[in-house]
Amino acid sequence: MPILPIVVIVDVDPDWRIFGAAGAPQKGEMRWEGLRRGVPNLLRLVEGLRDSRGGSVRFTWMLRSDAQIEMAYGDPAHVADEFADFWDAREALGDEIGWHPHTWRYSESGQFWFQENRDVDWVTSLLKDGHSALSRRFTIRVAKTGWTYHDNTTMKTFAELGVKIDFSALPGMRYRGVIPGTDHPLGQYDWSRAPQEPYHPRVDDYQMPGNGHALPILEVPNWTFPTGILRRLSHSLRGGRSWREFADPAKNPRLVGQGFRNPPYSVPFVCYFHPEETIGPPWIFNAVHVAQNLRLLLRSCERRGIQSHFVAGSELAANFR
Ligand SMILES: [Zn+2]
Repeated sequence: MPILPIVVIVDVDPDWRIFGAAGAPQKGEMRWEGLRRGVPNLLRLVEGLRDSRGGSVRFTWMLRSDAQIEMAYGDPAHVADEFADFWDAREALGDEIGWHPHTWRYSESGQFWFQENRDVDWVTSLLKDGHSALSRRFTIRVAKTGWTYHDNTTMKTFAELGVKIDFSALPGMRYRGVIPGTDHPLGQYDWSRAPQEPYHPRVDDYQMPGNGHALPILEVPNWTFPTGILRRLSHSLRGGRSWREFADPAKNPRLVGQGFRNPPYSVPFVCYFHPEETIGPPWIFNAVHVAQNLRLLLRSCERRGIQSHFVAGSELAANFR
């Protein structure tokens, strides 16, 4: 009987992900209502869900630790301390804590925040500082980048920092957003050539499995699936987005149910959402959808004769060497 490992990732961002777009951050401007209010509700909603072994949902919480959080709170890993009791309790239940660095950079001249991905030295030093601050609280085995962005340098830096598994890849998808009226990146990533199977990336091409010259880090891609015809139309009208999407469990099953109803046989099922989505309007994002989508997934596994296993992110390391 095939086994499907299921990894449920939470990108622990503040509620307004494009926070501070209009000005410099000040302490108190970031809101964490999704984490304070939505997540406890979510945990109650998924309480009864069990995989084929009788295991409950395991979450992998990716915590922000980067320059923007440091600017707002004076410490890149502030989120680790502010919610320390919650992380401790979740770890005791078998969840895992990982790292979610965003390369938000403030443009003094433009007075806006953008996604830095061209100033390699600045990005590398941000990653080292963010990692060092968070590793004082947790052993970081798993990570996922902000906007799911990677390039050859960031992937190599993750590997050098000792991250065992990266969960950023969105196979078949890419996005090249900019801040309107500027050429400053926002939301950019490129996984158009990445496979759905876990792989050790090439040193000179983060999207491709290495052959002899691979990095020690394992890339485990998120589960992506083809968008429906109506969604394709709206995607192409909005311009430039890929004709695939990732399985966001907080999204209304009418929009993403297909991804959960047709699970893979031979690769892990990796999905992610954000705390703010648990308090979103039910027609699109809400905590109830997480329970509904995961239930759909468990039932589909049962029907297809696949064993479902909820696992914490780093447990996959044993399956792929
Ligand atoms: Zn994020």
